[in-house]
Amino acid sequence: MTNRLLGKTGLAVSPLCYGTLPFSPLQSYTGGGAATDALTRAFELGVNFLDTAQLYDNYSILRPALAKAGRDVFVASKTYAVSREEALQAVEEARSALGRDVIDIFLLHEQESEHTLRGHAAALEALYDCKAKGIVRAVGLSTHRPEGVLAAMSAGLDVVHPLLNIAGLGLPPPGRSAMENAIRSAEGAGLGVYTMKALGGGHLWRSAEEALAYARQYGHSLALGMRDVSEVGAAVTFFETGALPRLTGNKSRSLHIATWCTGCGQCVAACPNDALEVVDCKAQLRENDLCVLCGYCGAACPEFCIKVI
Ligand code: SF4
Ligand code: SF4
Repeated sequence: MTNRLLGKTGLAVSPLCYGTLPFSPLQSYTGGGAATDALTRAFELGVNFLDTAQLYDNYSILRPALAKAGRDVFVASKTYAVSREEALQAVEEARSALGRDVIDIFLLHEQESEHTLRGHAAALEALYDCKAKGIVRAVGLSTHRPEGVLAAMSAGLDVVHPLLNIAGLGLPPPGRSAMENAIRSAEGAGLGVYTMKALGGGHLWRSAEEALAYARQYGHSLALGMRDVSEVGAAVTFFETGALPRLTGNKSRSLHIATWCTGCGQCVAACPNDALEVVDCKAQLRENDLCVLCGYCGAACPEFCIKVI
């Protein structure tokens, strides 16, 4: 794999970024050595870019592989912080738990538009202060909306991490075209762009080669969740040859909502894709295609009802 400059950040990142959401309690990951093995193999094969988030609650899971890799791997994390104090705490938590003096990229998590970003102005300013101190190297946002990408451009951020896939899963109408245009504009403006959800959270794994071929045309890198060494090997082969080896086993996943759901609706509010509703005091999916299996609703459930399995 040939590394690429991530916009004007000065970071030369691999076109394949390790998306670490699979190694999170949000996705039923319970620990063990699988994460260290898979991450270490990815780093050996040339992946030098890793994406995590405060929400994923997986810093301690990532730390052993990162310790072995040292400074050769760039780390991006994200926070839902609104206030200055929350943002500073998020950076300190990442530095401490990951065992790193510097977090290469820090993003405001899931910003929908300039209005959302305005509401996070204090947190954004705190991240820029961290950049000025040299403990963060680039600042940006993640988003499921084209308007979020445009907001990142207007605000002059360094990096944007948008959702994009061939089927438009998780994107608002009119689907992928508006996001494609927004990403092209961001690239042209010099932002570093790395995309997410190329396989729609797993929905597109049966046509994974086509889906990855589409998504890799956009941005400088693509964050892909890989659950084990075999998936790492397949993904790296794809990025080196354009051909994806056949993956064995059942790769499909789905959202499970336990019967003890109380219908409180907190998961509905937490879903960035408006995929859930409460009917007869039970949460349920409105439409399967709206759900990208991110697991964010599970983090919001006070009853621990929701898992992506
Ligand atoms: S329903 Fe849950 S897993 Fe699906 S997109 Fe919404 S938050 Fe993510
Ligand atoms: S947050 Fe949990 S308990 Fe509340 S409606 Fe959703 S699944 Fe049910």
